[in-house]
Amino acid sequence: MSDRSCDQSVDLLRELSLATAPPGAEDEVRAIVHRELAGLGRLQHDAHGSVIVEGTGAGPRVILDAHMDEVGFAVQSIDDEGRIHFVPLGGWWGHVLLAQRVDLLATGGRKIPGSIGCKPPHFLKAAEREKVVKLENMYIDVGARNRAEVEEWGVMVGDPICPRGQFDELASAGRYCCKAFDDRVGVGVLIESFQRLAKISSLSCQPVAVAAVQEEVGCRGARTASFISRPDVGVMLEGTPADDLPGMISRQAVLGGGPQLRFLDPTAISNRRLVRLCQEVATSEGVPLQIAVRRSGGTDASTTHLHGQGVPTIVIGVPARSIHTHSSVIDIDDYRHAVDLVVALVEKLDAETVASLTDYSS
Ligand SMILES: [Zn+2]
Repeated sequence: MSDRSCDQSVDLLRELSLATAPPGAEDEVRAIVHRELAGLGRLQHDAHGSVIVEGTGAGPRVILDAHMDEVGFAVQSIDDEGRIHFVPLGGWWGHVLLAQRVDLLATGGRKIPGSIGCKPPHFLKAAEREKVVKLENMYIDVGARNRAEVEEWGVMVGDPICPRGQFDELASAGRYCCKAFDDRVGVGVLIESFQRLAKISSLSCQPVAVAAVQEEVGCRGARTASFISRPDVGVMLEGTPADDLPGMISRQAVLGGGPQLRFLDPTAISNRRLVRLCQEVATSEGVPLQIAVRRSGGTDASTTHLHGQGVPTIVIGVPARSIHTHSSVIDIDDYRHAVDLVVALVEKLDAETVASLTDYSS
């Protein structure tokens, strides 16, 4: 199993998940990635702030990618009474937002707490109760007396806003609830697997860690980071939506069922040979695996697999219930199995194996 004890994995995950990192403002997660990985290889950044760490080792460049950002918002305007109107950054459903806590990262440097304003039931008309409120009709209440006060705090149009979460261990051992497991579970798997790989002297490839920015607004960091990471193979690490929900028949991401190997979604088709290799490795390592074909969604594979002449790519996900909310739920065993799987897979990726993934000569 992992170098870290389970408690240490949970500590890392807590720190990562509580960090504030909406798209374009990933500084807090980037600082953790720097602290954990900077000593393990050459550290570079793309122009948007993605982190690339080239590990040691000769052979094909195997990139491990996780995105640092989480779904959030940005200040669109401030009204005379000091309410903050906002635009979403990433996919939100109105149902999960009213009365939720947020932190506004003011240009002036302060982190301003607030909550998304909500009409109490006392004032709701019957028809209003049946409707989902549109995000453009929502606002953030930061408790300000007026616009001038908000401006004194250093808040400016365009400032990032992030969900504020709470990290809880649930009553069932090994299950945790917090915001941002999409994709802090991926960042955690990236950190832990890269640290373990750095200790293996017999590697026949060069692992490269990529902590990408701006996935939630179109996988932009993964695209620009590819110019530095120059992947021969891409292993995307994700917090993937769990589907063990009432009414869902075809289940491919059950909590506690092991990591998900995503075969395809509308944005990328995984390299078939790499998928089969990953399945073999999982079997030999005793890691349970859930193969998925998704009708919707997308990951950093969408841009990474199109880099240059194309890159054989797979997506390994830790199932998380209720993602893109303040309260997603994971099973730590899925996370720890994902670390084991990634390490064992990378150990198999020597030059000959990687070349065979894209050999179309016969
Ligand atoms: Zn994600």
